[in-house]
Amino acid sequence: MNLTQRDQAIIWHPYTQMQTAAPPLPIVRGEGALLYDEAGNTYIDAISSWWVNLHGHCHPHITQKITEQLNRLDHVIFAGFTHEPAVALAENLLQILPANQAKVFYSDNGSTAVEVALKMAMQYWQNLGQTKYKIIAFRDSYHGDTFGAMSVSSRSAFTQPFQQYLFDVLFIDVPVTGREAETVAQLKLLTEQEDIAAFIFEPLVLGTAGMVMYSPDILNQLMQICKEHQILTIADEVMTGFGRTGRNFACEYLSKQPDMVCLSKGLTGGVMALGVTTCAQAIFEAFLSTETNKTFFHGHSYTANPIACTAGIASYELLVQPQTQQNMQRIAAQHQQFKEKLNGHPSIKNIRQTGTILALEFNMGTTSYFNQIRNRLYNFALQHQVLLRPLGNIIYIFPPYCITEEQLNIVYGVIEKMSALL
Ligand code: PLP
Repeated sequence: MNLTQRDQAIIWHPYTQMQTAAPPLPIVRGEGALLYDEAGNTYIDAISSWWVNLHGHCHPHITQKITEQLNRLDHVIFAGFTHEPAVALAENLLQILPANQAKVFYSDNGSTAVEVALKMAMQYWQNLGQTKYKIIAFRDSYHGDTFGAMSVSSRSAFTQPFQQYLFDVLFIDVPVTGREAETVAQLKLLTEQEDIAAFIFEPLVLGTAGMVMYSPDILNQLMQICKEHQILTIADEVMTGFGRTGRNFACEYLSKQPDMVCLSKGLTGGVMALGVTTCAQAIFEAFLSTETNKTFFHGHSYTANPIACTAGIASYELLVQPQTQQNMQRIAAQHQQFKEKLNGHPSIKNIRQTGTILALEFNMGTTSYFNQIRNRLYNFALQHQVLLRPLGNIIYIFPPYCITEEQLNIVYGVIEKMSALL
């Protein structure tokens, strides 16, 4: 049996209808922006795998650092013990996060980073003796697949089977251009309720909703309203973090600072599973007590795994290098040119960009077969040796920062050819 057949005999893949899905592609190697399959074909990874590989695959700096760490300390329980990589990574992150962020809590993926933030927000108010437990979120957001994260995410086929077990959330519309005033009014109305603990949001770009973008000005306004009503703000930067929006964090575009930040994905350069929730000092202090029940009773076996933290440090070192920053600017400028080229294209609409993220939509006319279209676009890209993962009729590019000008031009070329498919 070859690898695909062995996989099909026993593996159940994520987000996959196993009855109808095409056989999975067996990937044997990655280098830079390229993935290599078993048959020797190469694919340009235009989405950084699952939005994670900031610096491309198998970057030698990350590989070397984690190999050294692996020979020094593989893992240690993180209650009652600490280690250099966890502390050094936290120090690095606090250098570039909003200045009010003071404490770093580790977990092991984006959903758990969100779960931690929600639990912290709810318990924060409880520790202060206040009954505030409701959460506000954007209607189209995606924050992960655990129960808390699903609760604050858009209600969809993803969440439908679990609907009765999700906690109630107060949803407001995403303040896209033209809808800002409505969203502000919705939030103001909700703030008449006194039991709201927090507002969680994907800052500037909602990824899974289809790279939906909105302005920092309106987010500042929403955050200000929250501040006036003692509602904590949680910036979920799991996708937008580490330079994706053109700055280290989307929050850097804001004049307001969030009370908490959630990180994962690019945190380790896409090499190891790691999550981080940071918070302001006042939140941390509400948990300091001689009363046992004020403790934050949350943790995971792999919390702050030393190898994952080392990957985080190595990825951070690469991120802050001038070369990487230049690459990010070059990608943004190339996107800008492509955007201009597509302007007025008969089959393409809503071309949008924030930093290194570019998204566009194919006109579907009256067609409602989004899934079929999506599969057609996905397969077409793969046949042309580019990995893209359309969201319905929306195509986005989310490249590793090492992608070359030439590779990016190939990706653009494939997207242009796709328009002939519809
Ligand atoms: N938050 C955001 C904004 C995300 O985009 C995602 C994943 O796509 C998550 C949270 C969940 O992260 P993970 O898939 O690591 O659980």
